[in-house]
Amino acid sequence: MIKTSRAKYKLLGVIYTWCLIVASYLEWMLKVLREAVDLGGMPEEVYTMLSKPDRILTVKIPVRMDNGKLVIFEGYRVQHNNALGPYKGGIRFHPEVTLETDIALATGMTLKNSLAGIPYGGGKGAVRCNPKQMSMRELEQLSRGYARAIAPIIGPEKDIPAPDVNTNPQIMIWMVDEFSKLKGYNVPGVFTAKPPELWGNPVRMYSTGFGAVVIAKEAAERWMDGFEGKRIAIHGFGNAGQWAAYWASKWGAKIVAISDTSGAVYDPNGIDVELAMKVKNETRKVINYPKGEKIPDPSAPLFVDCDILMPSAIENVITKENVNKVKARLIVEPANGPVTPEAEKILYQRKDFIADVPDILANAGGVVMSYLEWVENLQWYFWDEEETRQKLAAIMKRNFHKTVDGWEKLKAKHPDKLITMRDAAFVIAVDRVYRAMKLRGWI
Ligand code: GLU
Repeated sequence: MIKTSRAKYKLLGVIYTWCLIVASYLEWMLKVLREAVDLGGMPEEVYTMLSKPDRILTVKIPVRMDNGKLVIFEGYRVQHNNALGPYKGGIRFHPEVTLETDIALATGMTLKNSLAGIPYGGGKGAVRCNPKQMSMRELEQLSRGYARAIAPIIGPEKDIPAPDVNTNPQIMIWMVDEFSKLKGYNVPGVFTAKPPELWGNPVRMYSTGFGAVVIAKEAAERWMDGFEGKRIAIHGFGNAGQWAAYWASKWGAKIVAISDTSGAVYDPNGIDVELAMKVKNETRKVINYPKGEKIPDPSAPLFVDCDILMPSAIENVITKENVNKVKARLIVEPANGPVTPEAEKILYQRKDFIADVPDILANAGGVVMSYLEWVENLQWYFWDEEETRQKLAAIMKRNFHKTVDGWEKLKAKHPDKLITMRDAAFVIAVDRVYRAMKLRGWI
């Protein structure tokens, strides 16, 4: 009895905390919108339009599980705004997703796609499930069921989903297959980030890390007299972190620190990235890298002596409590939200600090690559890997300089305020959607 009520309280506590997080994420997104509209001197109607999504679809997905039981999963597709083109954004499979988080994420996609200069609006999908506890067959049934359920509102010219947390190319191709069966012909352009063997593109595998390094290189060339020889620390050695390390070292930078949950490796003479990737993929632990200094604390790369820091793991790793230990002059964010807003303000007060290149710009490589894949699919004409990579790099470069130029202008407009690069990115993003809505006569 006591046990049950304790468990109940614990559960209530978890739900309560989660509600706070959910409320604050959507609230945070709305606050960002509010500030961008005000800073950019845009009409109030822009906020009114963008503070609510265009359409919300809630779906039920029945799946016969391996144990014979029928389980009903709940899923969503939120279409936030399509002033610039079809809705675009990933699908998240996670036990804790809610409609509110999905709305916030869809709003974020409208802004990310706008800043990326690609012809897309924003959307996001989610299914509340725990994919880590599901068999391949169950996962396939769930993926196909979700694709069928959202089929009426998606399509290459309507809404183009892609992977997000816990979804991958295999899931995308199951969904394409299901959608194609409904239509009666192959429709590759309805989902992006498919396997390279079937209408996908090999660049997609490393596009987020690659895109972030293109930005870091442009930033170093614009602000720090070149990229070659720059010391880079990378926090997180998953997909984004590994490929960021790979491309940065290929282009002449020195990777001085890497980490994952097993710990960190520090080597001021430079880490052999290909060896580190091999070790990580074979043993799952960066700490097994045979050279350099091993540090048990995985957060070590955030605070080592370096020129550029690339936080590539999770959100809120640099906070007002630890920001004073950060030595890098430039931060480029492959991860989502690694620096808290308070910490960011403190960084900009440092005399030698150049910029914190925000996630919305630095990690857009994934969705920009999605755009290129979609263009290939619409034409049934495919570029080779090298050509695709060049196109991706060109778009990322353009976006970096566009954002820096906008930042300069915004700083000149508000000389009395601390204007971060993130502020500028959001103003540019909202402004592009504003102009599209105005031209179309929506506001
Ligand atoms: N989920 C990724 C993102 O949030 C990719 C979205 C896409 O390619 O549509 O940017």
